[in-house]
Amino acid sequence: MSRRMEGLKPYLFVEINKMIAEKKARGEEVISFAIGDPDTPTPENIINRLCQSARDPANHRYPETVGLPELRQAIAGWYQRRFGVSLDADREVLPLIGAKEGIAHIALCFIDPGDIALVPDPAYPVYSISATLAGGEPYYMPLTEGRNYLPDLDAIPEEVLRKAKLIWLNYPNNPTGAVAYLDFFSRVVQFARQHNIAVCHDAPYTENAFDGYQPISFLQADGAREVGVEFHSLSKSYNMTGWRIGMAVGNAEMIGALGSVKSNLDSGIPQAIQYAAIEALSGPQDCIADLNAVYQRRRDLIIEVLNDIGLKAKPAKAGLYIWAKVPKDYTSMEFASDLLDKVGVVVIPGVGYGSNGEGYVRLSLTIPDAGLVKGLSRLAAWQDSKNRFKQKK
Ligand SMILES: *Cc1c(COP(=O)(O)O)cnc(C)c1O
Repeated sequence: MSRRMEGLKPYLFVEINKMIAEKKARGEEVISFAIGDPDTPTPENIINRLCQSARDPANHRYPETVGLPELRQAIAGWYQRRFGVSLDADREVLPLIGAKEGIAHIALCFIDPGDIALVPDPAYPVYSISATLAGGEPYYMPLTEGRNYLPDLDAIPEEVLRKAKLIWLNYPNNPTGAVAYLDFFSRVVQFARQHNIAVCHDAPYTENAFDGYQPISFLQADGAREVGVEFHSLSKSYNMTGWRIGMAVGNAEMIGALGSVKSNLDSGIPQAIQYAAIEALSGPQDCIADLNAVYQRRRDLIIEVLNDIGLKAKPAKAGLYIWAKVPKDYTSMEFASDLLDKVGVVVIPGVGYGSNGEGYVRLSLTIPDAGLVKGLSRLAAWQDSKNRFKQKK
């Protein structure tokens, strides 16, 4: 085995899925609030386009790594309509086999052994893993409630900044549900220029938003495309996690570098899926508001029960998650284990996203309504069992 394998732990969800499978094998029913994976089907118009394209023999052959020109134009068109950002479809847009693929590979373009990637804590695990696999190391920027889960760029030591090649950001944020506004993104542009650090903004949740709020793109900040790229995905917006398609957009040099690594490693996205993505981005967009109404209703139901049983949680403006403070006297791991043992409910311990996630658990809104109702009554039952225990003492 290579030395880089020694530092590679099993991916967070692999462990959680294993725990769920073990319970199920013992015949217990488990209700999972764990993984963010839309539970309703891909919209019909997108499926139809996929089926139709799958029948065309032209789509049975190797695709181009950089994607169909029509797809790159559809992505540029969507960015224009959605964010007012104009992109050059040939130089500033690159389709990906899901955002995760690009997030993992871009580290190879910027990180040499000894280099640093600035990574939020808590965060999606791939930002730090990709830096490590490239031979570099992550420097963790704490995200705390007190700072609205925005990193304190002024707190990063000078010697770290000298070695830093990349900074990772993610808003709307997984797991905290935080959002960022233009003033923060403008500060990031200035920071990136001053220290010559490339910005990677991961933004798969801009379409999952509530209460009339519309998240923005990093590329809306002045000068953003001189310093960075944004990763986006069709997974969470159009219920397409299973089709594996996303994109990187922004700085032409960074996009070119990522395209060059990818063309040496993969052979692109199956073309039928690229056509489905064109339909998703260019066709009717009603599914977005429909899905958000479902998620918003679930968000409010879950928050109500959590607050009833003494877990503090605020309704997120965007994203697919609730970030809840665990009860006093529990670590996030103890609390998650207790829920699983006593009432068969799975939540993700915040510490799985980094040490600053300690004291929190994450609940996903992508749980089908039937499971949601059962899960909520089990959470209430967990509280009752605790009260009974206290009275006995
Ligand atoms: C879901 C998710 C992704 C991955 O998106 P894919 O396009 O499905 O690979 C990337 N970043 C974050 C923060 C996510 O939560």
